[in-house]
Amino acid sequence: MNLPHQIVVKKNERESSFAYRLLKTWAEIDLPALRHNIALLQNRIGEKTGMMAVVKCNAYGHGAVEVAKEAVYLGVDALGVSSLFEGIELREVFSDIPIVVLSAGISGQAQEFIRYNLSPVVCSWETVNPLAEAAAGKGVKAKIHIKIDTGMGRIGVWHERADEFIRSVHRMPDIRIEGICSHFATADEADLSFSNKQLEWFNALLEKVKDLSIPYKHISNTGGIFNLPNSHLNMVRPGLSLYGVSPSEHIQNSDEIIPVLSLKTKIAFIKKIPPGRTLSYGRTFRTKKEKIVATLPVGYGDGYPRYLSNKGHVLIHGRRAGILGTVTMDHIMVDITDIPDVHTEDVAVLIGRQGKEEITAREIAEIGGTIPYEIFTSINKRVQRVYIGT
Ligand SMILES: *Cc1c(COP(=O)(O)O)cnc(C)c1O
Repeated sequence: MNLPHQIVVKKNERESSFAYRLLKTWAEIDLPALRHNIALLQNRIGEKTGMMAVVKCNAYGHGAVEVAKEAVYLGVDALGVSSLFEGIELREVFSDIPIVVLSAGISGQAQEFIRYNLSPVVCSWETVNPLAEAAAGKGVKAKIHIKIDTGMGRIGVWHERADEFIRSVHRMPDIRIEGICSHFATADEADLSFSNKQLEWFNALLEKVKDLSIPYKHISNTGGIFNLPNSHLNMVRPGLSLYGVSPSEHIQNSDEIIPVLSLKTKIAFIKKIPPGRTLSYGRTFRTKKEKIVATLPVGYGDGYPRYLSNKGHVLIHGRRAGILGTVTMDHIMVDITDIPDVHTEDVAVLIGRQGKEEITAREIAEIGGTIPYEIFTSINKRVQRVYIGT
């Protein structure tokens, strides 16, 4: 069967499509919006700067292969993923494009990095040596990007002493250093002083190893791309902005990016609730007067956050309906008392736009004290992805 998550439907045929009839809770991925964002970023960084499209974690829940297809079509220079297995998934579709595995690899994966032509980020001899051994005698070099720690404190060689490490690795005959990279800790905040320090330290290191002519130098995530234009160097690594979302309110000139993902569901059941009854687990909501309540087939089992219990909203007929009671694994209840003419199977929007109203991933994240990244990466496999073309 042609499963809904494998098909692309045209925007104006979405509701008459085969997929639509089957769908209960789904994510619509707006491909023209994705293309718009990629083109906007390309325009922002200019022709001399390369782009690694970060499609880790299933492209932040948007579908790694589908997103990568658009990115490759629009001419990005590399794809960024988090793990060997994410890299293999993409390599099986894209035979040539450089694929960088951004999390530090482990020694046991060295042979697979070579076999699938993936470029891991490395920062220690424990991973460089097995890569060199795996490449030796095969007529290929192990391609790597060396990670420099300029203050993120996660992975990387400390910047002060990294030149010795880079030089030693550079002398190894079976290793090819494709890039040197670092990562910002606070590029999406109002105060950019620490980011500027990180950039200064990274630039100082790059100056020390200039003679090695390493092809790519990169440090900018979405925050860096928008807030620190002098940090673009010759490659940038956008993630969240590809998907049309700003990581925080402190991202400069990011108004033109368009959200790519909408999360939708269809009303399963509608009922009148007399005064004095309670709803859902723990009985945290009690009706004071009669209410009309719609039950929606979505819950924390789909990655819809449980902290939205009694706090979140959904859109029905372009109006906000508040969540009543606790979010359960498979269902939520919402208040439609003041929204006329609502029927079962009407569409409710959990993330996205309907009429003049919009619920953003940022709004949902802020209720739970988290970030939009976590909202997107939580939307799991049970939610069908439907790709909307032009
Ligand atoms: C996830 C990630 C990015 C992308 O970050 P965004 O804030 O989503 O743009 C860039 N670089 C590295 C190393 C990452 O892990």
